[in-house]
Amino acid sequence: MIRKLVLAALTPSLIWASIGKAQDNPTPGFDVLAYEVSIAPDIASKSLYGAETIRLRIGREAAAELAFSPMALQIMDATLNGQPVQVRSDDKGLVFVPTNPLPAGKKVELSFRLSGTPKRGINAVPGGIYSAYFACDWMVCRQDTPGDKARLTLDIVVPKGSLAVGPGKLLSVGSTADGLPIQRWRTARDYSSYLYGFAVGPFKPVHYRRRGNRITLWNATGEAQDLEARFAQSAPLIDFLSDKAGLPMPGRYYAQILVPGWQAQEAATYSLIGQKALDADLATPDQEWILVHEMAHQWWGNLVTCANWQHFWLNEGFATFMTAAWKEHRYGREAYDAELDVARRRLAKAREAGFDKPLAWDGKYPSLGTRRAVQYSKGALFLDHLRSEMGEDAFWAGIKRYTRRHAGGTVTSADFQRAMQQETRRDLAPLFAEWVYGKAGAAES
Ligand SMILES: [Zn+2]
Repeated sequence: MIRKLVLAALTPSLIWASIGKAQDNPTPGFDVLAYEVSIAPDIASKSLYGAETIRLRIGREAAAELAFSPMALQIMDATLNGQPVQVRSDDKGLVFVPTNPLPAGKKVELSFRLSGTPKRGINAVPGGIYSAYFACDWMVCRQDTPGDKARLTLDIVVPKGSLAVGPGKLLSVGSTADGLPIQRWRTARDYSSYLYGFAVGPFKPVHYRRRGNRITLWNATGEAQDLEARFAQSAPLIDFLSDKAGLPMPGRYYAQILVPGWQAQEAATYSLIGQKALDADLATPDQEWILVHEMAHQWWGNLVTCANWQHFWLNEGFATFMTAAWKEHRYGREAYDAELDVARRRLAKAREAGFDKPLAWDGKYPSLGTRRAVQYSKGALFLDHLRSEMGEDAFWAGIKRYTRRHAGGTVTSADFQRAMQQETRRDLAPLFAEWVYGKAGAAES
């Protein structure tokens, strides 16, 4: 794929995407089977050029167009099943428009080249760059359809003096015509687009093994770091979270990238760990959160993924709750209670402002703070409540059942309810009605 890249001046653009807001959901209507992306990032300008192929299947209705998240890159030479296809781009999305509607169920292949400077999501570090969260700003994908998980193959042309980190496993290393390495990374399973990412720079890795998992630590801070000391907590965390999930680390590999500042973000098979956040955790260990929260997403969020943002509490409420559970395991019950007290205070603050919603509420939150008070804090408090209502054995058996049953898939609140209900005689419907759906909402029993 990388051979298609053209290093010379790019042809006049077919389109130049206008820069716009990304909150509009692209129309679903199709299922992406695989993304194959090749990128040559330029560290100094935070720009890139590359090529992409998207294999997808049309949904149950014929599709007049194929819409992806809005992005600012130039898209060139687009083809659909080998034939030129029109592209339209505005602040609502990047849309491929076939000459005739595509029949339901049809498999199609979109290919194009891309070039430019992503509007968001590319961050500079000393001598390098890394992407965070906004994958659909640097490749064509669907940021807001977490339920459409797909495998990603990412070829990265590695700049001189740099190393690269990509999603999944490093499969092979090729070479460009002028001798730069091309690393091919591929995820072993399907992931949601918001989890795709990469980093390139003069990073030095440290590798170790834990419980059959291959773990890599990367230093992207530009400063000398004792990575093993800083990430000493990671190994026992892998043990703890694997035990709670009832499943080993997905893919049996995981990386942590230490970056400057307060960054805290999960990606498909690694986490971005902000140096300042980690410093604060190391200074007050019983208040730590960043390593456990981001690692917990490897199971809850990345492996078992909310089908849409309405059920996002299943990602974030779990990561928040697992942070409390880890503290109980590591520091004792008081640390668990203290962590949940933080969640209680955050939820109380939202309530005082007149804003409290059921966990699966589908409306628009007025602020990031209120959304987090519900999806993170209230989500964790609900799990704690279920734990005390169901009892220790049934609760953790339910968590394992849910995680194993839906590993690799997508979930709604009803899937979680069903799994928990199978571990207890107590009717959980009233609890779910109250916390998850709202008293007037529908609840299963
Ligand atoms: Zn999170």
